[in-house]
Amino acid sequence: MVSNGAKFILDECIERGSNLHDLYDYAVIQINDTHPTMVIPELIRLLVEKGIEMDEAIEIVSKTCAYTNHTILAEALEKWPIEYLEKAVPHLVPIIKVLDEKVRKEYDDESLYIIDKNNNVHMAHIDIHYTFSVNGVASLHTDILKNNELNNFYEIYPEKFNNKTNGITFRRWLMHCNPELTGLIEQLIGDGFKVEAEKLQDLIKYIDDKEVLQKLLDIKHNNKVKLKKYLKNTQNIDIDENSIFDIQIKRLHEYKRQHMNALYVIYKYLQIKKGNIPTTPITIIFGAKAAPAYTIAKDIIHLILCLQQLIDDDEEVSKYLKVVMIENYNVTAAEKLIPACDISEQISLASKEASGTGNMKFMLNGALTLGTEDGANVEIHELVGDDNIFIFGESSEDVIKHYENKDYDPLDFYIKDKTTKEVVDFIVSDEIMNVGNEENLIRLYKEILRKDWFMGLLDFKSYCEKKEEMFKEYEDREKWSKRMLINISKAGYFSSDRTIEEYNDDIWKLK
Ligand SMILES: *Cc1c(COP(=O)(O)O)cnc(C)c1O
Repeated sequence: MVSNGAKFILDECIERGSNLHDLYDYAVIQINDTHPTMVIPELIRLLVEKGIEMDEAIEIVSKTCAYTNHTILAEALEKWPIEYLEKAVPHLVPIIKVLDEKVRKEYDDESLYIIDKNNNVHMAHIDIHYTFSVNGVASLHTDILKNNELNNFYEIYPEKFNNKTNGITFRRWLMHCNPELTGLIEQLIGDGFKVEAEKLQDLIKYIDDKEVLQKLLDIKHNNKVKLKKYLKNTQNIDIDENSIFDIQIKRLHEYKRQHMNALYVIYKYLQIKKGNIPTTPITIIFGAKAAPAYTIAKDIIHLILCLQQLIDDDEEVSKYLKVVMIENYNVTAAEKLIPACDISEQISLASKEASGTGNMKFMLNGALTLGTEDGANVEIHELVGDDNIFIFGESSEDVIKHYENKDYDPLDFYIKDKTTKEVVDFIVSDEIMNVGNEENLIRLYKEILRKDWFMGLLDFKSYCEKKEEMFKEYEDREKWSKRMLINISKAGYFSSDRTIEEYNDDIWKLK
Protein backbone atom coordinates (compact mmCIF):
# COMPACT_ATOMS: atom_id res chain seq x y z
CA MET A 1 0.00 0.00 0.00
CA VAL A 2 2.73 2.51 0.86
CA SER A 3 4.58 1.59 -2.33
CA ASN A 4 1.55 2.44 -4.44
CA GLY A 5 1.08 5.64 -2.48
CA ALA A 6 4.72 6.59 -2.97
CA LYS A 7 4.59 5.91 -6.74
CA PHE A 8 1.37 7.88 -7.07
CA ILE A 9 2.93 10.85 -5.27
CA LEU A 10 6.12 10.76 -7.38
CA ASP A 11 4.14 10.60 -10.64
CA GLU A 12 1.91 13.49 -9.64
CA CYS A 13 4.81 15.67 -8.47
CA ILE A 14 6.70 15.06 -11.74
CA GLU A 15 3.56 15.98 -13.68
CA ARG A 16 3.35 19.23 -11.69
CA GLY A 17 6.96 20.14 -12.51
CA SER A 18 9.11 18.57 -9.76
CA ASN A 19 12.57 17.27 -10.72
CA LEU A 20 12.38 15.07 -7.56
CA HIS A 21 15.42 16.83 -6.05
CA ASP A 22 12.80 19.32 -4.82
CA LEU A 23 10.13 16.73 -3.92
CA TYR A 24 9.51 18.36 -0.51
CA ASP A 25 8.38 21.58 -2.26
CA TYR A 26 5.57 19.53 -3.86
CA ALA A 27 4.46 17.00 -1.27
CA VAL A 28 4.26 16.18 2.42
CA ILE A 29 3.67 12.64 3.66
CA GLN A 30 2.14 12.41 7.14
CA ILE A 31 3.05 9.03 8.61
CA ASN A 32 -0.03 8.36 10.74
CA ASP A 33 1.28 6.07 13.54
CA THR A 34 4.10 3.60 12.83
CA HIS A 35 2.03 1.38 10.52
CA PRO A 36 3.09 3.01 7.18
CA THR A 37 6.75 3.44 8.21
CA MET A 38 7.95 1.41 5.19
CA VAL A 39 7.08 4.40 3.00
CA ILE A 40 10.46 5.84 4.09
CA PRO A 41 12.76 3.10 2.72
CA GLU A 42 10.40 2.53 -0.22
CA LEU A 43 10.55 6.19 -1.31
CA ILE A 44 14.34 6.14 -0.95
CA ARG A 45 14.43 3.02 -3.14
CA LEU A 46 12.24 4.64 -5.80
CA LEU A 47 14.34 7.82 -5.89
CA VAL A 48 17.57 5.83 -6.18
CA GLU A 49 15.96 3.81 -8.99
CA LYS A 50 15.37 7.13 -10.77
CA GLY A 51 19.08 7.96 -10.55
CA ILE A 52 19.37 10.00 -7.36
CA GLU A 53 22.36 9.26 -5.05
CA MET A 54 21.48 7.36 -1.85
CA ASP A 55 22.57 10.17 0.54
CA GLU A 56 20.56 12.76 -1.31
CA ALA A 57 17.54 10.42 -1.55
CA ILE A 58 17.62 9.98 2.22
CA GLU A 59 17.75 13.75 2.71
CA ILE A 60 14.87 14.37 0.29
CA VAL A 61 12.67 11.77 1.99
CA SER A 62 13.50 13.14 5.46
CA LYS A 63 12.37 16.59 4.34
CA THR A 64 9.15 15.15 2.83
CA CYS A 65 7.92 12.95 5.67
CA ALA A 66 6.43 13.83 9.07
CA TYR A 67 5.42 11.39 11.85
CA THR A 68 2.50 11.34 14.30
CA ASN A 69 2.91 9.29 17.48
CA HIS A 70 -0.40 7.99 18.86
CA THR A 71 0.61 6.03 21.95
CA ILE A 72 3.37 5.22 24.38
CA LEU A 73 2.18 1.70 25.20
CA ALA A 74 5.08 -0.67 24.54
CA GLU A 75 2.90 -3.16 22.64
CA ALA A 76 1.98 -0.45 20.12
CA LEU A 77 5.54 0.71 19.40
CA GLU A 78 6.12 -1.78 16.61
CA LYS A 79 9.34 -3.69 16.30
CA TRP A 80 9.86 -6.61 13.92
CA PRO A 81 12.62 -9.22 13.64
CA ILE A 82 14.77 -8.41 10.62
CA GLU A 83 14.19 -11.99 9.32
CA TYR A 84 10.51 -11.13 8.90
CA LEU A 85 11.40 -8.06 6.85
CA GLU A 86 13.82 -10.14 4.78
CA LYS A 87 10.83 -12.29 3.79
CA ALA A 88 8.22 -9.54 3.32
CA VAL A 89 10.33 -6.68 1.89
CA PRO A 90 13.80 -8.07 0.98
CA HIS A 91 14.51 -5.12 -1.33
CA LEU A 92 14.06 -2.65 1.56
CA VAL A 93 16.32 -4.40 4.08
CA PRO A 94 19.61 -3.06 2.61
CA ILE A 95 18.17 0.46 2.80
CA ILE A 96 17.06 -0.04 6.42
CA LYS A 97 20.62 -1.19 7.18
CA VAL A 98 22.03 1.99 5.64
CA LEU A 99 19.61 4.08 7.73
CA ASP A 100 20.78 2.22 10.85
CA GLU A 101 24.49 2.63 10.00
CA LYS A 102 24.05 6.39 9.64
CA VAL A 103 22.59 6.54 13.15
CA ARG A 104 25.38 4.37 14.57
CA LYS A 105 28.03 6.61 12.98
CA GLU A 106 26.51 9.69 14.59
CA TYR A 107 25.51 8.42 18.06
CA ASP A 108 26.84 5.98 20.69
CA ASP A 109 23.51 5.61 22.53
CA GLU A 110 22.10 2.17 21.62
CA SER A 111 18.57 3.25 22.49
CA LEU A 112 18.61 5.42 19.34
CA TYR A 113 19.51 2.57 16.96
CA ILE A 114 17.07 1.35 14.33
CA ILE A 115 18.21 -2.28 14.52
CA ASP A 116 18.71 -3.33 18.15
CA LYS A 117 21.07 -5.96 19.53
CA ASN A 118 18.37 -8.64 19.14
CA ASN A 119 18.02 -7.78 15.44
CA ASN A 120 14.63 -6.14 15.88
CA VAL A 121 13.80 -3.20 13.61
CA HIS A 122 12.18 -0.30 15.49
CA MET A 123 9.60 1.45 13.30
CA ALA A 124 9.27 4.57 15.47
CA HIS A 125 13.06 5.03 15.42
CA ILE A 126 13.06 5.07 11.59
CA ASP A 127 10.25 7.63 11.76
CA ILE A 128 11.94 9.95 14.25
CA HIS A 129 15.39 9.96 12.61
CA TYR A 130 14.13 10.27 9.03
CA THR A 131 11.27 12.80 9.23
CA PHE A 132 11.29 16.56 9.88
CA SER A 133 8.37 16.59 12.36
CA VAL A 134 7.33 14.37 15.27
CA ASN A 135 4.03 15.20 16.92
CA GLY A 136 1.97 13.95 19.84
CA VAL A 137 -1.84 14.17 19.91
CA ALA A 138 -2.56 16.06 23.17
CA SER A 139 -0.44 18.48 25.14
CA LEU A 140 0.17 16.10 28.08
CA HIS A 141 1.05 13.30 25.64
CA THR A 142 3.56 15.49 23.80
CA ASP A 143 5.14 16.55 27.12
CA ILE A 144 5.50 12.89 28.14
CA LEU A 145 7.10 12.09 24.76
CA LYS A 146 9.59 14.94 25.25
CA ASN A 147 10.39 14.39 28.92
CA ASN A 148 10.06 10.63 29.32
CA GLU A 149 9.22 8.17 26.58
CA LEU A 150 11.23 9.74 23.72
CA ASN A 151 13.50 11.98 25.79
CA ASN A 152 16.67 10.54 24.21
CA PHE A 153 15.34 11.55 20.77
CA TYR A 154 14.10 14.94 22.03
CA GLU A 155 17.63 15.72 23.29
CA ILE A 156 19.07 15.36 19.78
CA TYR A 157 16.10 16.70 17.76
CA PRO A 158 14.27 19.26 19.95
CA GLU A 159 13.15 21.23 16.88
CA LYS A 160 11.24 18.25 15.43
CA PHE A 161 8.84 17.82 18.38
CA ASN A 162 5.44 19.51 18.35
CA ASN A 163 1.87 18.98 19.54
CA LYS A 164 -1.34 18.69 17.58
CA THR A 165 -4.23 18.08 19.94
CA ASN A 166 -6.73 15.69 18.33
CA GLY A 167 -10.17 16.79 17.25
CA ILE A 168 -13.47 15.27 16.17
CA THR A 169 -15.70 16.12 13.22
CA PHE A 170 -18.69 18.14 14.36
CA ARG A 171 -20.54 17.07 11.20
CA ARG A 172 -20.84 13.55 12.58
CA TRP A 173 -20.59 14.11 16.36
CA LEU A 174 -23.03 17.00 16.64
CA MET A 175 -25.01 17.83 13.47
CA HIS A 176 -25.66 14.24 12.35
CA CYS A 177 -25.95 12.42 15.69
CA ASN A 178 -27.80 15.10 17.68
CA PRO A 179 -30.15 17.05 15.37
CA GLU A 180 -32.27 18.34 18.25
CA LEU A 181 -29.32 19.92 20.09
CA THR A 182 -27.99 21.26 16.78
CA GLY A 183 -31.40 22.87 16.17
CA LEU A 184 -31.47 24.53 19.58
CA ILE A 185 -27.94 25.90 19.16
CA GLU A 186 -28.86 27.26 15.73
CA GLN A 187 -31.95 28.95 17.17
CA LEU A 188 -29.86 30.58 19.92
CA ILE A 189 -26.67 31.71 18.12
CA GLY A 190 -27.28 31.18 14.40
CA ASP A 191 -25.54 28.63 12.19
CA GLY A 192 -22.03 30.13 12.17
CA PHE A 193 -20.81 27.42 14.57
CA LYS A 194 -21.16 24.87 11.76
CA VAL A 195 -18.17 26.34 9.95
CA GLU A 196 -16.48 28.08 12.89
CA ALA A 197 -16.78 25.81 15.91
CA GLU A 198 -15.37 28.37 18.38
CA LYS A 199 -18.62 30.31 17.93
CA LEU A 200 -20.21 27.79 20.30
CA GLN A 201 -18.81 30.07 23.00
CA ASP A 202 -21.63 32.51 22.23
CA LEU A 203 -23.90 30.05 24.09
CA ILE A 204 -22.43 31.26 27.36
CA LYS A 205 -24.75 34.28 27.35
CA TYR A 206 -27.62 31.89 28.13
CA ILE A 207 -26.01 30.66 31.36
CA ASP A 208 -28.80 32.21 33.48
CA ASP A 209 -31.63 31.63 31.00
CA LYS A 210 -33.84 29.09 32.75
CA GLU A 211 -35.82 28.34 29.60
CA VAL A 212 -32.69 27.46 27.62
CA LEU A 213 -31.31 25.37 30.49
CA GLN A 214 -34.58 23.45 30.70
CA LYS A 215 -34.46 22.85 26.94
CA LEU A 216 -31.00 21.31 27.32
CA LEU A 217 -32.40 18.91 29.91
CA ASP A 218 -35.43 18.13 27.73
CA ILE A 219 -33.24 17.34 24.70
CA LYS A 220 -31.06 15.07 26.84
CA HIS A 221 -34.21 13.29 28.02
CA ASN A 222 -35.49 12.87 24.46
CA ASN A 223 -32.14 11.37 23.41
CA LYS A 224 -32.36 8.96 26.35
CA VAL A 225 -35.80 7.84 25.12
CA LYS A 226 -34.34 7.31 21.64
CA LEU A 227 -31.51 5.19 23.07
CA LYS A 228 -34.04 3.22 25.11
CA LYS A 229 -35.92 2.35 21.90
CA TYR A 230 -32.68 1.49 20.09
CA LEU A 231 -31.62 -0.92 22.85
CA LYS A 232 -35.08 -2.47 22.91
CA ASN A 233 -34.92 -3.06 19.16
CA THR A 234 -31.33 -4.25 18.94
CA GLN A 235 -30.82 -6.21 22.16
CA ASN A 236 -34.33 -6.49 23.64
CA ILE A 237 -33.08 -4.67 26.75
CA ASP A 238 -35.24 -2.27 28.78
CA ILE A 239 -33.59 0.75 30.34
CA ASP A 240 -35.18 3.49 32.44
CA GLU A 241 -35.03 6.85 30.68
CA ASN A 242 -35.40 8.57 34.05
CA SER A 243 -32.22 7.01 35.43
CA ILE A 244 -28.74 8.53 35.25
CA PHE A 245 -26.94 7.30 32.11
CA ASP A 246 -23.31 6.63 33.02
CA ILE A 247 -21.43 5.46 29.91
CA GLN A 248 -18.00 3.98 29.21
CA ILE A 249 -17.58 3.13 25.52
CA LYS A 250 -14.14 2.60 24.03
CA ARG A 251 -11.83 -0.24 22.97
CA LEU A 252 -11.33 -2.70 25.80
CA HIS A 253 -7.90 -2.32 27.35
CA GLU A 254 -6.55 -2.62 30.88
CA TYR A 255 -5.09 0.90 30.74
CA LYS A 256 -8.60 2.29 30.07
CA ARG A 257 -9.65 0.53 33.26
CA GLN A 258 -13.09 -0.86 32.47
CA HIS A 259 -12.27 -3.26 35.32
CA MET A 260 -12.17 -0.32 37.76
CA ASN A 261 -15.67 0.68 36.60
CA ALA A 262 -16.80 -2.96 37.00
CA LEU A 263 -15.42 -2.90 40.56
CA TYR A 264 -17.51 0.22 41.16
CA VAL A 265 -20.61 -1.70 40.02
CA ILE A 266 -19.82 -4.34 42.65
CA TYR A 267 -19.31 -1.60 45.25
CA LYS A 268 -22.67 -0.05 44.40
CA TYR A 269 -24.41 -3.44 44.34
CA LEU A 270 -23.12 -4.17 47.86
CA GLN A 271 -24.10 -0.67 49.05
CA ILE A 272 -27.67 -1.14 47.82
CA LYS A 273 -27.76 -4.57 49.48
CA LYS A 274 -26.80 -2.78 52.71
CA GLY A 275 -29.72 -0.36 52.27
CA ASN A 276 -27.87 2.66 50.84
CA ILE A 277 -30.27 3.37 48.03
CA PRO A 278 -29.48 5.85 45.23
CA THR A 279 -31.74 8.93 45.04
CA THR A 280 -32.05 8.51 41.26
CA PRO A 281 -31.61 5.05 39.70
CA ILE A 282 -28.39 4.52 37.77
CA THR A 283 -27.80 2.84 34.41
CA ILE A 284 -24.15 1.97 33.76
CA ILE A 285 -23.48 1.20 30.10
CA PHE A 286 -20.34 -0.42 28.69
CA GLY A 287 -19.44 -0.81 25.04
CA ALA A 288 -16.14 -2.31 23.93
CA LYS A 289 -14.43 -4.59 21.47
CA ALA A 290 -11.30 -6.50 22.45
CA ALA A 291 -8.45 -7.89 20.39
CA PRO A 292 -9.17 -11.62 19.75
CA ALA A 293 -6.15 -12.93 21.67
CA TYR A 294 -6.38 -10.51 24.61
CA THR A 295 -7.34 -12.95 27.39
CA ILE A 296 -7.66 -10.46 30.25
CA ALA A 297 -9.88 -8.23 28.11
CA LYS A 298 -12.23 -11.14 27.50
CA ASP A 299 -12.23 -11.86 31.24
CA ILE A 300 -13.20 -8.24 31.98
CA ILE A 301 -16.08 -8.45 29.48
CA HIS A 302 -17.12 -11.71 31.13
CA LEU A 303 -17.22 -10.04 34.56
CA ILE A 304 -19.34 -7.18 33.21
CA LEU A 305 -21.79 -9.68 31.66
CA CYS A 306 -21.96 -11.55 34.98
CA LEU A 307 -22.79 -8.32 36.81
CA GLN A 308 -25.44 -7.46 34.22
CA GLN A 309 -27.12 -10.83 34.84
CA LEU A 310 -26.68 -10.89 38.62
CA ILE A 311 -28.29 -7.45 38.98
CA ASP A 312 -31.10 -8.17 36.49
CA ASP A 313 -31.97 -11.29 38.50
CA ASP A 314 -32.00 -9.37 41.81
CA GLU A 315 -35.33 -7.64 42.43
CA GLU A 316 -33.94 -5.63 45.35
CA VAL A 317 -31.09 -4.07 43.40
CA SER A 318 -32.44 -3.91 39.84
CA LYS A 319 -34.88 -1.13 40.79
CA TYR A 320 -31.91 1.17 41.41
CA LEU A 321 -29.02 -0.14 39.33
CA LYS A 322 -28.74 -1.59 35.84
CA VAL A 323 -25.68 -2.69 33.89
CA VAL A 324 -25.75 -2.98 30.10
CA MET A 325 -23.08 -4.32 27.78
CA ILE A 326 -23.61 -3.07 24.23
CA GLU A 327 -23.24 -5.83 21.63
CA ASN A 328 -20.95 -5.18 18.67
CA TYR A 329 -19.99 -1.67 19.80
CA ASN A 330 -19.15 0.53 16.80
CA VAL A 331 -19.53 4.08 15.43
CA THR A 332 -23.23 3.54 14.63
CA ALA A 333 -23.90 2.57 18.25
CA ALA A 334 -21.72 5.45 19.50
CA GLU A 335 -23.90 7.91 17.57
CA LYS A 336 -26.93 6.77 19.62
CA LEU A 337 -25.17 6.45 22.97
CA ILE A 338 -23.25 9.72 23.14
CA PRO A 339 -26.21 12.17 22.78
CA ALA A 340 -28.02 10.26 25.57
CA CYS A 341 -25.17 10.33 28.09
CA ASP A 342 -25.09 12.15 31.44
CA ILE A 343 -21.73 10.94 32.77
CA SER A 344 -18.79 10.36 30.42
CA GLU A 345 -16.32 7.83 31.86
CA GLN A 346 -12.72 8.79 30.93
CA ILE A 347 -10.86 6.92 33.63
CA SER A 348 -7.59 5.74 32.04
CA LEU A 349 -4.50 5.43 34.21
CA ALA A 350 -2.91 8.91 34.05
CA SER A 351 -0.11 9.08 31.42
CA LYS A 352 -1.46 6.15 29.37
CA GLU A 353 -4.24 7.65 27.18
CA ALA A 354 -2.47 9.68 24.49
CA SER A 355 -5.51 11.88 23.80
CA GLY A 356 -8.85 10.15 23.66
CA THR A 357 -11.53 11.51 21.35
CA GLY A 358 -14.58 9.91 22.98
CA ASN A 359 -14.10 12.44 25.79
CA MET A 360 -14.58 15.27 23.24
CA LYS A 361 -17.67 13.72 21.61
CA PHE A 362 -19.40 13.39 25.01
CA MET A 363 -18.56 16.95 26.08
CA LEU A 364 -19.92 18.35 22.82
CA ASN A 365 -23.22 16.52 23.47
CA GLY A 366 -23.63 17.87 27.00
CA ALA A 367 -22.30 15.00 29.11
CA LEU A 368 -20.09 15.82 32.10
CA THR A 369 -16.72 14.11 32.37
CA LEU A 370 -15.69 11.83 35.21
CA GLY A 371 -12.02 11.42 34.52
CA THR A 372 -8.36 11.29 35.39
CA GLU A 373 -5.90 14.04 34.51
CA ASP A 374 -4.90 12.19 31.33
CA GLY A 375 -4.75 12.80 27.57
CA ALA A 376 -7.08 15.52 26.33
CA ASN A 377 -9.02 15.39 29.63
CA VAL A 378 -6.32 17.81 30.83
CA GLU A 379 -7.28 20.30 28.11
CA ILE A 380 -11.02 19.80 28.73
CA HIS A 381 -10.33 20.55 32.41
CA GLU A 382 -8.44 23.75 31.52
CA LEU A 383 -11.27 24.90 29.23
CA VAL A 384 -14.27 24.24 31.48
CA GLY A 385 -12.62 24.88 34.87
CA ASP A 386 -12.65 22.87 38.13
CA ASP A 387 -16.39 23.26 38.71
CA ASN A 388 -17.51 21.72 35.43
CA ILE A 389 -15.54 18.46 35.33
CA PHE A 390 -15.03 15.72 37.93
CA ILE A 391 -11.35 14.82 38.24
CA PHE A 392 -9.88 12.12 40.48
CA GLY A 393 -6.83 9.89 40.79
CA GLU A 394 -3.06 10.09 40.86
CA SER A 395 -1.20 12.46 38.52
CA SER A 396 0.71 11.23 35.47
CA GLU A 397 3.97 12.27 37.16
CA ASP A 398 3.27 10.09 40.19
CA VAL A 399 2.16 7.17 38.01
CA ILE A 400 5.35 7.40 35.94
CA LYS A 401 7.31 7.32 39.23
CA HIS A 402 5.48 4.13 40.30
CA TYR A 403 6.66 2.46 37.10
CA GLU A 404 10.24 3.76 37.55
CA ASN A 405 10.39 2.67 41.19
CA LYS A 406 8.37 -0.54 40.58
CA ASP A 407 6.61 0.24 43.87
CA TYR A 408 2.96 -0.42 42.97
CA ASP A 409 1.56 -3.58 44.53
CA PRO A 410 -2.23 -4.09 44.29
CA LEU A 411 -2.04 -6.29 47.42
CA ASP A 412 -1.16 -3.18 49.48
CA PHE A 413 -4.51 -1.63 48.57
CA TYR A 414 -6.37 -4.89 49.06
CA ILE A 415 -4.96 -5.39 52.56
CA LYS A 416 -5.16 -1.75 53.64
CA ASP A 417 -8.74 -0.98 52.60
CA LYS A 418 -11.66 -3.11 53.81
CA THR A 419 -14.01 -1.98 51.03
CA THR A 420 -11.46 -2.73 48.31
CA LYS A 421 -10.96 -6.24 49.72
CA GLU A 422 -14.70 -6.85 49.92
CA VAL A 423 -15.24 -5.68 46.33
CA VAL A 424 -12.32 -7.62 44.81
CA ASP A 425 -13.26 -10.81 46.70
CA PHE A 426 -16.78 -10.53 45.28
CA ILE A 427 -15.37 -11.42 41.83
CA VAL A 428 -14.96 -15.01 43.06
CA SER A 429 -17.99 -15.10 45.37
CA ASP A 430 -20.69 -17.77 45.04
CA GLU A 431 -23.12 -15.12 43.76
CA ILE A 432 -20.98 -14.38 40.70
CA MET A 433 -19.67 -17.92 40.23
CA ASN A 434 -23.31 -19.05 39.95
CA VAL A 435 -23.91 -16.89 36.87
CA GLY A 436 -20.40 -17.02 35.37
CA ASN A 437 -17.47 -19.16 34.42
CA GLU A 438 -15.01 -20.12 37.15
CA GLU A 439 -11.92 -20.12 34.93
CA ASN A 440 -12.49 -16.57 33.66
CA LEU A 441 -13.38 -15.18 37.08
CA ILE A 442 -10.48 -16.75 38.98
CA ARG A 443 -7.99 -15.69 36.30
CA LEU A 444 -9.23 -12.07 36.48
CA TYR A 445 -9.22 -12.12 40.29
CA LYS A 446 -5.60 -13.27 40.34
CA GLU A 447 -4.61 -10.79 37.68
CA ILE A 448 -6.03 -7.85 39.65
CA LEU A 449 -4.55 -8.99 42.96
CA ARG A 450 -1.10 -10.04 41.80
CA LYS A 451 -0.32 -7.84 38.82
CA ASP A 452 -2.84 -5.12 37.92
CA TRP A 453 -0.28 -3.65 35.53
CA PHE A 454 -2.50 -0.59 34.90
CA MET A 455 -3.19 0.06 38.57
CA GLY A 456 -6.97 -0.31 38.86
CA LEU A 457 -6.76 -0.50 42.64
CA LEU A 458 -4.52 2.59 42.92
CA ASP A 459 -7.35 5.02 42.12
CA PHE A 460 -10.33 2.83 43.06
CA LYS A 461 -11.18 4.67 46.27
CA SER A 462 -10.93 8.19 44.86
CA TYR A 463 -12.91 6.99 41.83
CA CYS A 464 -15.79 5.74 44.01
CA GLU A 465 -15.81 8.97 46.02
CA LYS A 466 -15.84 11.20 42.93
CA LYS A 467 -18.56 9.14 41.28
CA GLU A 468 -20.75 9.35 44.40
CA GLU A 469 -20.17 13.12 44.46
CA MET A 470 -21.28 13.30 40.85
CA PHE A 471 -24.51 11.36 41.49
CA LYS A 472 -25.27 13.79 44.32
CA GLU A 473 -24.60 16.79 42.09
CA TYR A 474 -26.94 15.32 39.45
CA GLU A 475 -29.88 15.99 41.78
CA ASP A 476 -29.49 19.77 41.37
CA ARG A 477 -30.83 19.76 37.84
CA GLU A 478 -30.38 23.49 37.21
CA LYS A 479 -26.74 23.53 38.35
CA TRP A 480 -26.11 20.40 36.27
CA SER A 481 -27.68 21.98 33.18
CA LYS A 482 -25.41 25.03 33.57
CA ARG A 483 -22.43 22.70 33.56
CA MET A 484 -23.81 21.04 30.40
CA LEU A 485 -24.06 24.44 28.71
CA ILE A 486 -20.50 25.35 29.71
CA ASN A 487 -19.16 22.05 28.37
CA ILE A 488 -20.94 22.46 25.02
CA SER A 489 -19.86 26.09 24.69
CA LYS A 490 -16.19 25.21 25.30
CA ALA A 491 -16.10 22.19 22.98
CA GLY A 492 -15.32 24.25 19.85
CA TYR A 493 -11.58 23.85 20.45
CA PHE A 494 -11.93 20.11 19.77
CA SER A 495 -13.24 20.50 16.22
CA SER A 496 -11.04 18.53 13.81
CA ASP A 497 -11.18 21.65 11.60
CA ARG A 498 -8.91 23.34 14.18
CA THR A 499 -6.61 20.29 14.34
CA ILE A 500 -6.24 20.09 10.56
CA GLU A 501 -5.59 23.82 10.32
CA GLU A 502 -2.74 23.42 12.82
CA TYR A 503 -1.24 20.49 10.88
CA ASN A 504 -1.38 22.67 7.79
CA ASP A 505 0.02 25.85 9.38
CA ASP A 506 2.93 24.10 11.12
CA ILE A 507 3.74 21.00 9.04
CA TRP A 508 2.11 20.73 5.60
CA LYS A 509 2.10 24.43 4.63
CA LEU A 510 -0.47 23.90 1.87
CA LYS A 511 -1.95 27.08 0.44
C1 LIG B 1 -14.52 7.83 19.18
C2 LIG B 1 -14.54 6.37 19.13
C3 LIG B 1 -13.51 5.66 19.76
C4 LIG B 1 -12.41 6.31 20.55
O1 LIG B 1 -12.88 6.44 21.88
P1 LIG B 1 -11.90 6.75 23.09
O2 LIG B 1 -12.83 6.91 24.26
O3 LIG B 1 -11.21 8.04 22.76
O4 LIG B 1 -10.99 5.61 23.21
C5 LIG B 1 -13.54 4.26 19.71
N1 LIG B 1 -14.54 3.61 19.06
C6 LIG B 1 -15.55 4.27 18.47
C7 LIG B 1 -16.62 3.48 17.80
C8 LIG B 1 -15.59 5.67 18.47
O5 LIG B 1 -16.59 6.32 17.87
